[in-house]
Amino acid sequence: SSMISIEALNKRYGDKSALLDVSFEIETGAIFGILGRSGAGKSTLLRCLNRLEQPDAGRVVIDGEDINRLSLRELRAQRRQMGMIFQHFNLLHARTVGENIALPLQIAGVPAARRGARVDALLTLVGLEGYADVWPSQLSGGQKQRVGIARALAAEPRYLLCDEATSALDPDTTLSILDLLASLQRQLNITVVLITHEMAVVKRICHGAALLESGRLIESGSLSAIMANP
Ligand code: ADP
Ligand code: ADP
Repeated sequence: SSMISIEALNKRYGDKSALLDVSFEIETGAIFGILGRSGAGKSTLLRCLNRLEQPDAGRVVIDGEDINRLSLRELRAQRRQMGMIFQHFNLLHARTVGENIALPLQIAGVPAARRGARVDALLTLVGLEGYADVWPSQLSGGQKQRVGIARALAAEPRYLLCDEATSALDPDTTLSILDLLASLQRQLNITVVLITHEMAVVKRICHGAALLESGRLIESGSLSAIMANP
């Protein structure tokens, strides 16, 4: 079954619980929001999805596979299925836009001769046609995030994980990036999981969401279920 299933996830840092018995399901082929205040456990949860973090107890099951039981080789394959974008974009400033986007292609073993055309297609996909030779420092915040999105999608992942992807952007730019994510989700039929502290972000593009508070799940499911929560 095509589903991310989060089952009784627990994670502690010292004597502090970052996640406490968190269970919910993320339907694939949609946009799912993980909503909560700062410190609620959102990034810990996101890091458990791509196994940058190992939970103390509980499981993350993706397409029927417990990701904590994957071999190193299977884990690498699983990670390639997960693109990630960040609040502060995490671009390499000594490399051009095109080189930033080509990096995952290089790691995936795509020959140099084929990378250029793929980079151009990715730039077109995110509305930055012709920007391959520009330096990241010449770009606005919104343009930097578009480059981040192109880089995340370069290796054709099935999941796009977004860590406060619009928190560093002004309101208009936020809307344009959210609408781009929504359009890419439909166009590529990927699954987008985003974490945010803003209900407006969830309302704008999410189909389902989970609400976290102090490491506990308060509510999850369709958007209407989340919004019914006071
Ligand atoms: P959010 O993303 O919702 O802001 P986090 O997952 O970053 O929340 O953090 C949840 C809780 O775990 C917070 O109390 C935070 O201080 C704590 N925490 C997160 N990462 C670490 C870490 N590496 N070491 C110690 N405490 C951490
Ligand atoms: P309602 O509770 O408003 O009747 P549904 O439960 O039918 O709505 O879901 C409304 C939309 O939200 C549907 O498109 C559904 O696919 C989506 N949805 C519901 N739950 C999830 C989930 N866990 N992950 C992703 N999308 C979800």
